[in-house]
Amino acid sequence: MRKPIIVGNWKMNKLNKDAEAFVKAIDPKCEGAAATYGIGAPFTCVETCVKNAKNLIIAAENCHFEDAGAFTGEVSVPMLQEIGVTHCIIGHSERRQMFNETDETVNKKVKRLIEANITPIMCCGETEAQFDAGETEAVIRAQIAGGLKDLCPKCVGKMVIAYEPIWAIGTGKSANTEIAEKCCAIVRDQVRVMYGDEAAENVRVQYGGSVKPNNIKEYMAMPDIDGALIGGASLKEDSFTEIIDATK
Ligand code: 13P
Repeated sequence: MRKPIIVGNWKMNKLNKDAEAFVKAIDPKCEGAAATYGIGAPFTCVETCVKNAKNLIIAAENCHFEDAGAFTGEVSVPMLQEIGVTHCIIGHSERRQMFNETDETVNKKVKRLIEANITPIMCCGETEAQFDAGETEAVIRAQIAGGLKDLCPKCVGKMVIAYEPIWAIGTGKSANTEIAEKCCAIVRDQVRVMYGDEAAENVRVQYGGSVKPNNIKEYMAMPDIDGALIGGASLKEDSFTEIIDATK
């Protein structure tokens, strides 16, 4: 049985004082829950979140694949380890589109995180033009093939992969449950093709893109959707609480 995992992605939002208040308020609500709940926080807030979380898992939103060196502005995996980070979002479409993230860099980052025992939450998903051109499946398979290249089946089974169609991110236009399920099943099938049944049955696949308190349950009811990666609705305590209450 796969344990559901629901993670808020704060993106470039929140100062430390807001992050601390949020985690202090939300964390007790997750005690003893059947699902895992977590927050992806900007680098400056990660340590504050880790220190105040007993039940929530805390993720960074990116990392570099090198441990140290002349990479101005970057943060390495050992730096994340030092402050107790357990998860890291990798290859979000915003990083792919605005910061030159490629399947190759995603793969290097995933490898380094696995080595450090930090769980990657690796994102994939097509643009609206690719969706309209019927290229969704090919895009997903190529991103998974590239991002998961040369890993071990056991390691892949412990990962989280988020399917986030770009046309549904921050648009209020969510993929219907049929599309979301179909695409999460494609993600799982690509894992099966590469790493076999056990990895495919264990890997947790999230849907992301305008997930809200009023639609989370429909997604969670689908067989290949094991959780959600949530942007806008994770920023406010009341909407994130509603999401927890609807799913725990
Ligand atoms: P929204 O929930 O705001 O659409 O964002 C989704 C997302 O990008 C999560 O990583």
